[in-house]
Amino acid sequence: MIYRKFGNTGEMISALGFGCMRFPEYEKDGKKFVDIEKTDEMIAEAYKLGVNYFDSAPYYCNKNSEAALGHGVKAFRDKILLSTKFPGEGAEQPGMYRRRLETSLANLDTDHVDFYHFWGISRKYFDEVMIPCGLLEEARKAKEEGLIRHISFSFHDEPSAIKHIIDGSEERGVPMESMLVQYNLLDRSNEEMLTYAQSKGLGTVAMGPVGGGRLSAPTELYAKLTGGASIPTYELAFKFVLGNPDLNCALSGMQTLDMVKQNAALASKAEGFSKEEWEKLGSAMEDLKKFSELYCTGCKYCQPCPAGIEIPAIFNMYTYHNVYGLTGHAQHMFDEYVKKGGKLHADCKNCGFCEKKCPQHLQIRELLQKVEAVFNK
Ligand code: SF4
Ligand code: SF4
Repeated sequence: MIYRKFGNTGEMISALGFGCMRFPEYEKDGKKFVDIEKTDEMIAEAYKLGVNYFDSAPYYCNKNSEAALGHGVKAFRDKILLSTKFPGEGAEQPGMYRRRLETSLANLDTDHVDFYHFWGISRKYFDEVMIPCGLLEEARKAKEEGLIRHISFSFHDEPSAIKHIIDGSEERGVPMESMLVQYNLLDRSNEEMLTYAQSKGLGTVAMGPVGGGRLSAPTELYAKLTGGASIPTYELAFKFVLGNPDLNCALSGMQTLDMVKQNAALASKAEGFSKEEWEKLGSAMEDLKKFSELYCTGCKYCQPCPAGIEIPAIFNMYTYHNVYGLTGHAQHMFDEYVKKGGKLHADCKNCGFCEKKCPQHLQIRELLQKVEAVFNK
């Protein structure tokens, strides 16, 4: 495993981080549970292969992720870095920050969190909630008491808001120490801000660098982009993110033991892209920008759709086709979806819920029509 200096936090972080949002689950009496046996095995394997950063959040895996993670790392808790998040809604109520932190500590079965993130914040939230409600001050107190070791944020807004948040926290004497942002070969909008964050001493983590680990099929994408010999898209995506010297850790939402092994192997290869290769690839990637109007991260905030339309699943099929060139596979997935009675745009009730919730600001209804037209040809 390759380790990198994690900003000025004093930590060395593994190039691969374990995103704990897709643990294997099973259903019982209509409720979903994390499969603890499988999850323990995956976490232990990741640790054995050198992963030292594990990132959870209170709502992941039907609110079971933190507890499953705490269980999985119990035997080596002090050897790894635990990260979780403060959900911002309702934060105006006095004491909410502390109550939520204590709940996370109890779920994780630990006395401290190494990185506690303000979750998915925006410039507006920073200015209108975090500052007036004294949340930075709450974080500082929790840090002084040893309940959290580092103050962090994750983010959904225009890239310039990152600078606003970093500078605004620093001016108030509670500097951010690390950040978690969207960054991958399809979405480089935060690239400049990664450089800024590093210059200010923040550690940087990318979420979704390998499409949630779903891209394992070899394609000609790399060859198409660079004229070089083909490498699997999956490997390309990973190497691209880790090729950025301003990025410390690529977080992958791993679902299986194989995925853990595969990702860890990639993050352990000494040879990444050279700066020249990385830049060449970067400029070739500009060509893919035309697809970004349908860049769905699979976050599922648009779910549940009252009409039952599985929006992220449908958009994922489109990405397979349109970006990665796996058209046959994508068409098969779509046909299967329809065969099983999957709902489509024709079932839409026009409630607008999905578009209000989508952090990528996708025009979901319009895009559904566009995608379906491609597969219904
Ligand atoms: S607008 Fe349509 S697709 Fe979006 S949540 Fe409502 S019913 Fe579902
Ligand atoms: S909320 Fe937007 S980005 Fe997230 S899964 Fe739905 S469509 Fe995709």
